[in-house]
Order: sequence, then C-alpha cells, then structure tokens
Amino acid sequence: MANNWFQKREKPLWIAGPCSAETETQVLETAIRLHRTGKIDILRAGIWKPRTRPGAFEGIGEKGLPWLVKAKELTGLPLAVEVANAEHVEHCLKHEIDILWIGARTTVNPFAVQEIADALRGTDQHIMIKNPINPDLDLWLGGMERLLNVGLTKLAAVHRGFSFFGEKIYRNRPQWQIAIDFKTAMPDVFMINDPSHICGNRHLLAKVAQKAMDLNFDGLMIESHITPDEAWSDAAQQITPEVYADLINSLIIRNTSPQDRTVKSQLERLRREIDILDDEIMHSLASRMQLAREIGAYKRDQNMIILQSERWIEIFQKYIERGSQNGLSEEFITQIIKAIHNESIEQQVRIMEEKIEK
Ligand code: PEP
Ligand code: MN
Repeated sequence: MANNWFQKREKPLWIAGPCSAETETQVLETAIRLHRTGKIDILRAGIWKPRTRPGAFEGIGEKGLPWLVKAKELTGLPLAVEVANAEHVEHCLKHEIDILWIGARTTVNPFAVQEIADALRGTDQHIMIKNPINPDLDLWLGGMERLLNVGLTKLAAVHRGFSFFGEKIYRNRPQWQIAIDFKTAMPDVFMINDPSHICGNRHLLAKVAQKAMDLNFDGLMIESHITPDEAWSDAAQQITPEVYADLINSLIIRNTSPQDRTVKSQLERLRREIDILDDEIMHSLASRMQLAREIGAYKRDQNMIILQSERWIEIFQKYIERGSQNGLSEEFITQIIKAIHNESIEQQVRIMEEKIEK
C-alpha cells in the first residue's frame, strides 16, 4: 500500500458514507450516488456500532464487510471502517479495508487503543483516531502516541466534538480549542473534522464544516444515507448524497497563505501590532500578579483571609460591564477574569504558605 491518504494536500480530503452499513442495497446505492457527486475520496461505514444504550442497532457485523468490498469494486472508492478491538482489526485486514478508525468511545480506553495498535504492529495500515468523548487532550494525544509507537505512519486525527450535560445546541460540543491544541502539539498529523457527530442534526452541518475549513482542517467526514430519516443509527444528522454534494459545493475554501505581496505585508504589519499588544498584556498580567502577591503578604501579616467575596463580585461585575461596552462577549470576559482571579489566589496562597514554612 504505497499510497498515503493522510499526506498534506492541496485540496481537502472528503470522507462520506452512512453511519452504519444496514443492507447490501443501501451500501451499494449510497456508494454509487456518492461517487456520482465527484465529491468523495473515501467511503465510510460503521460495521460494529458502539451504542450508548443497549437495545439500539449494534451494527450488522462482519457480514457487511463483503458489501463494502463490492461497493469499492463498483466505484473504486477506498473504504473506511470503525474498529474497537483486535478482532475487528483482523476482519478488516482480511477484507483489505483501506482505512480503519478508532471511535470516540474507544479512544477513552487506553487498553482498547493499545490492543488495536498491537494488532496493527508491522502493518502499513491507515488509521484515524477520533477525539475521546470527554474533553481530554492528553487522552487523544496518548492514543495517537500508541499508534506511532507501533510504527504506524499513515495517521489522522478526527475532531468529532465532546459530550456534555445540559442544554444542547450541538450533540457534541466542538470545543475547537482542543482540536487547535492537538494541531499545535502534533502539527504534522492530518486533521479531519466530523461535523455529523458534532451537530447531531443536519441543519448545523454546513456552518460547522465551513468553520473547519476556515481553521485549516485537512478534510471532512460526513455521514450520508440514501433515506436519512429511515437510517438505523444517527438518522437526524445524515443527509442524502445529493444534499451532501450541495453542502461540499457551498463551502468556501480560502487560501492558507496570502497570494499577493501587498496582502502579505499588510497582514505582517497587523501581526506585528498584535505581537506588541500581546507583550503588553503579558507585562500587565505580570504586574498584576506582583500586586496580588503584595496584597497577599499584607493579608498574611494582618491575618486576613485570601478570598474577599464582596470584592470579587464587585470586580467581576465591573469587568463584565466594561467588556460589553467594548464589544467583548460575557463568556469571554468571564473566562479571562476567572482565570486571572484564580491565578491571583494561587499566588497569594503561595505567599501565605511561605509564612507557614518559616
Ligand atoms: C461514527 O462515526 O459513526 C461514530 C460512532 O462516531 P463517534 O465515535 O464519533 O461517536
Ligand atoms: Mn454515526
């Protein structure tokens, strides 16, 4: 297998296909109609489905693999299938499935990821690892490291959002920062976004897909079904091959770097201004912490507690107000001011401890 699908490329990589393989006809018709759109590089389908609650459709099992092989013969599309253990890997290798992926519920379990990695040792297999369902960057990076450690090189990370409790716009909150942190830690790893599992419904797909393109993801994985409302799993988020084509065609693929010299120098000038402001912010934060330590020493000498709730509520409200006057969202100001306040408390705790140690 000389080919590497996960090499950085000019155009995004498009992966599409049903959440689950259900029947031979469904697999073949989906593959043919997706292939006809000209907007697909790889055909995906779930064969074994890890379901949150028992009783839901748990996948057709290995008898679905020959349907996929047939779809590949008809369309030439390489295949991607989810694996959750060594036995799944074995079945896939036997059927020459081109690409495997580790699902979000499996990434949370280092034993399972290691078992899959060990089953692939010595092969040249393509494998993608989805983010774990919980927002834990290390678990995601750790999963990738387990694959690297057995010598696999054709690797991709899939960002599919993180589960949470509470009011839902998304089925899985994107928390884009975690995907960006992954990219920062492993810049050479191919990054795919999965809008289907982030959104959980078909209405938000285009918005999330566009954002992924604007954040320079290398590709998309989107679920597509011939009769989405009748799908045996994830019905609400699937779209027909034709709607899928419209979605891909509607995406704006922007330049990764400026084409033109004036744009480039303008961008550099603005970036230099940002660097100056970042330095100032850093300097101000350091000065603020210095003051916090002085206050800490004063409180310690006066035998006063660190957290003065009234003072905290007062500054918190003041900043939310000021922020909104300056066009900064309440969510952003809340995060920033809480982080600053937290650090001030930590610094003061250290000052208090110094006294205890003496
Ligand atoms: C899937 O891709 O169908 C799937 C089960 O996804 P996830 O692991 O992201 O939930
Ligand atoms: Mn699915």
